[in-house]
Amino acid sequence: MNYETHEHDVLVIGAGGAGLRAAIEASAAGVSVGLVCKSLLGKAHTVMAEGGIAAALANVDDRDSWKVHFADTMRGGQYVNNWRMAELHAKEAPDRVRELEAWGAVFDRTKDGRILQRNFGGHRYPRLAHVGDRTGLEMIRTLQDHGIHQGIDVHMECTIVTLLKDGERIAGAFGYERERGRFKLFRAKAVVLATGGVGRAYKITSNSWEYTGDGHALAYDAGADLVDMEFVQFHPTGMIWPPSVRGILVTEAVRGEGGVLRNSEGRRFMFDEVPENYRAQTADNEEEGWRYTQGDKAARRPPELLTRDHVSRCIMREVKAGRGSPHGGVFLDIAWIKSRIPHGAEHIKKKLPSMYHQFKQLADLDITQEPMEIGPTTHYIMGGVRVDADSQMSSVPGLFAAGECAAGINGANRLGGNSLSDILVFGKRAGEFAAKYAGGEKSANIDAPQVDEAARRTLEPFDRGGSGEGPYQVQYALQEMMQNLVGIVRNETEMRRALDGLEPLRERASRVGVAGHREYNPGWHAALDLHNLLTVSEAITRTAIERRESRGGHFREDYPDKEKKFASINFIVRKGRDGRMEVASAPIPEMPDELKQIIEEMK
Ligand SMILES: Cc1cc2nc3c(=O)[nH]c(=O)nc-3n(C[C@H](O)[C@H](O)[C@H](O)COP(=O)(O)OP(=O)(O)OC[C@H]3O[C@@H](n4cnc5c(N)ncnc54)[C@H](O)[C@@H]3O)c2cc1C
Repeated sequence: MNYETHEHDVLVIGAGGAGLRAAIEASAAGVSVGLVCKSLLGKAHTVMAEGGIAAALANVDDRDSWKVHFADTMRGGQYVNNWRMAELHAKEAPDRVRELEAWGAVFDRTKDGRILQRNFGGHRYPRLAHVGDRTGLEMIRTLQDHGIHQGIDVHMECTIVTLLKDGERIAGAFGYERERGRFKLFRAKAVVLATGGVGRAYKITSNSWEYTGDGHALAYDAGADLVDMEFVQFHPTGMIWPPSVRGILVTEAVRGEGGVLRNSEGRRFMFDEVPENYRAQTADNEEEGWRYTQGDKAARRPPELLTRDHVSRCIMREVKAGRGSPHGGVFLDIAWIKSRIPHGAEHIKKKLPSMYHQFKQLADLDITQEPMEIGPTTHYIMGGVRVDADSQMSSVPGLFAAGECAAGINGANRLGGNSLSDILVFGKRAGEFAAKYAGGEKSANIDAPQVDEAARRTLEPFDRGGSGEGPYQVQYALQEMMQNLVGIVRNETEMRRALDGLEPLRERASRVGVAGHREYNPGWHAALDLHNLLTVSEAITRTAIERRESRGGHFREDYPDKEKKFASINFIVRKGRDGRMEVASAPIPEMPDELKQIIEEMK
């Protein structure tokens, strides 16, 4: 079999914020680095991020500190987070943001010239460093500009389909070029997975075509543990109309800037139910909520800025009760702030330029004049590769993971803004420790049969040709099933049906065929993605069945409360010896007293 071979000390798979930051760090340590991405460099998910990067810089409110950020992250994650990751993240995020600034990122500014920070759900103080609502674009631009001067070898439009091993340790990866369909073999002493999320396992999602859970499945197949897979984040505000744009994100920054949620009766329903552990921090009237969004330090945040899991469920409640909008969502209104702010329409356009254009172009709606129709959309997965908190190494020697495809920091629910800071903090750490690991290792051996087998499997859909079922039918059936049976509100009966439904879908996936040749053949790519989508869907379903309680992003109508016995465990998924998926529970290590004390103090 023909394939092009490349050799690097560290191979980074994924060129979003986590991958780029890892590659920069590894390269700065003096090792050779290869960076592979599925699409063009600069087109990763990170570029779509709008609201901002959470970091306790305390530029807008000097009461903020890493301790408050740590406590907010743990509360948001409902205390099943990896506390060491949450600690490192809160402590290191400010330096990572300042570093980005030093590398040329042009953030919005306070009047006295410091990085401006905005309010976001679940963050006690204004904490999100931002560039209008195009923060991800600025982050990617800056990392890319910095990275290209580091001597990193970039392999664009190349999809990795298998990780290669030498005994227990990682040895490289195998993939195909999307453009020509040619195979590429990468030899590497260390591999960093930074492949992002799994949103495409669901029908309604803010995620783009690239997010098919590749890194999760690659790690799982290579023998690594996954953790927290039951925790999927359904963002409360996705577009719902027209149908062609359903799921596209409406940034939380709209609510941070004063946007409010109303039902069909015009009522701000978010005041109806405030969870006990947030009551003391939440405004109890509209006036106080408004003052908070305008920077009044004495005011508490409006209930629209409660955590995403809660807001999503409140929206579903309104819809189910018949108080929804015409297309099955509710209304998000930012236009109302014109009654409070001079030149309000201009202010909205300045603060939320992308949202203004998004609605104008895609829905023919002017958000400075009318409310938006929105509803929950699958947005992010808290679960992913289980890593060591400090080094980001997985249970497979030499295999590291960072960013959305890794797990731990977010627990049961991620706070908005914490992903962009996570990818900087842990991207850097993964790069640093992967370089260290590679520095101490000899080149690994990759035996030819392993590679030939990977190539054979990759070409299988062509063997069946146009007579096999098309991959998209299987993909749609899976997305429909996950949306309906393992979505925002879950129960045992439906999830068992999903589990039963996965087996026939796997069967169908093994029979899909594609016609044509290997050059830019999206049907072929979709056929290969199916294995990853099915793997993550099974992991989500199995762990969601096991967690017989409701916590964060995981809500069970048959177990609507939090249960003490689940407060101290994470669910782990791994491949058993017989090739079947196994689920085990792992106790969360005892938190050190000083961290416990911080949480107590911040309650
Ligand atoms: C619309 C939107 C807005 C958001 N806004 C915010 C925000 O304001 N603040 C915040 O904190 N978070 C936000 N998020 C979440 C955040 O953007 C992501 O969680 C984060 O960017 C993930 O970064 P990453 O580096 O882990 O992966 P990504 O940026 O998703 O990059 C993944 C990379 O992996 C590559 N890849 C995937 N599979 C393969 C494969 N098999 N082979 C080779 N390469 C592969 C892709 O091509 C890509 O380069 C938002 C998300 C969305 C969708």
